[in-house]
Parts: sequence; structure tokens; C-alpha cells
Amino acid sequence: MMTTLPESSREVMEEMQGETAEEVRAEPPPPPLLNIDLAWYDRTHRSLAALLVSRLCGQAGRHAGDHRPDGIGEPLIEGLLADIERCCSVRPGFVTPRTPVLEAVFRAILANGNRPLPMPEVRRRLMGWLALHEASPVISEDRLVRLVESDNFYGIRAVRP
Ligand SMILES: [Zn+2]
Repeated sequence: MMTTLPESSREVMEEMQGETAEEVRAEPPPPPLLNIDLAWYDRTHRSLAALLVSRLCGQAGRHAGDHRPDGIGEPLIEGLLADIERCCSVRPGFVTPRTPVLEAVFRAILANGNRPLPMPEVRRRLMGWLALHEASPVISEDRLVRLVESDNFYGIRAVRP
């Protein structure tokens, strides 16, 4: 048996419909933020320091040992990242058209000091580096997302904010 809703209830129903329509029009979700997951290197017993040292330019490479605490062991990650951000990543050979795309994503994150970097900004940096070499291949954000999801070498983490 149907009951007639009072006037006040109908008003509430109309408001709820309005909210639903609002959700449909909502903005797409924010892009993922990328950085290197340091804990992943601990879990997999891999050395991020070794990877970073091999990405230094010649000049920074000669001084990598300065980042060793007390002059022994592996150089500290923080010091290596600072070198890459300040020095090596602004040199023209840091990313070239011959750099594999996932390696270039890794280097874009390093160039940002491993602070979380939105995917569109990663792509913008890649295109900027390639433009220095007068190359402009089509690299879509979707392709970058798929590559990052397939990564089991760099420990790249994509976090949805
Ligand atoms: Zn350098």
C-alpha cells in the first residue's frame, strides 16, 4: 500500500538527487604522485646508493665518497640525491632520446630530490629533456602509468593522493 510523502520529505529527496548529479559532474581523480620507495630497497636487499652513484655525472662521481658517514660504508642517500638534483640532472646528457622511458621516469624523480612528483609533471620533465635533443616522441601519461605499474627494478611507488 502506497503512502503519500509529506511535503517536507519530498524536499529532502530532491536535494539528494541534486547531490548525485553533482557527483557525476565531479572532477577526475587527482593524478598519482611518484617517488622512490626506500623501504622497498630494504625489503629486497638492494642498494639504492649504488644505483644513485652510477647516475652521477663525472664531477659528482669523484666526490661521492664525501657522502659516506665517517668515511666508511655506502654514501648516504640524502647527499647523493642532493647532488643529482642540484648538479647532475641539469646537465644536458642526464636524459636523452636513447634513455629507456622507465629509466627516465626514475631520473625525473631523482631530479626532484625524491619528493613526490605528480605524473603530469614527470611527463613534462621528460618532454623538456627530450626537447633539448630536438626529439618529441609521443609519451602518454597512460603509457607512463603502465610502465610504472610494471616496475620491479627501480622501486617506484605511485600513490593516489
Ligand atoms: Zn653532477
